[in-house]
Amino acid sequence: MPATAQTTQTAVTWPEGVIARYLTDAGKAIGDPTVTVDLIEKDDSVLARCTVCPDSEADFSFDPMCTGARATGWATKQAATWAQAHAEVCRALPRPTA
Ligand SMILES: [Zn+2]
Repeated sequence: MPATAQTTQTAVTWPEGVIARYLTDAGKAIGDPTVTVDLIEKDDSVLARCTVCPDSEADFSFDPMCTGARATGWATKQAATWAQAHAEVCRALPRPTA
């Protein structure tokens, strides 16, 4: 039986600042757990960024009407929605590193 994606995923080290990752459609197809859309928490925003598409990223500022965890949570939710939507349709493959 081949190794499951779950097993592989736990062995991958996440880059610093990454708070969530969404495996893309292409990532699923080739079984590469690093082909993802990452959520990266910054000082005043949460960045959603595709690790493969060069221009696919969106920055969500913390809610100016809220403070602390609520503001962060709001931005994270927006970023997560964007990341999920992009991951579902992203067919981009990573450039081979050889
Ligand atoms: Zn992408």
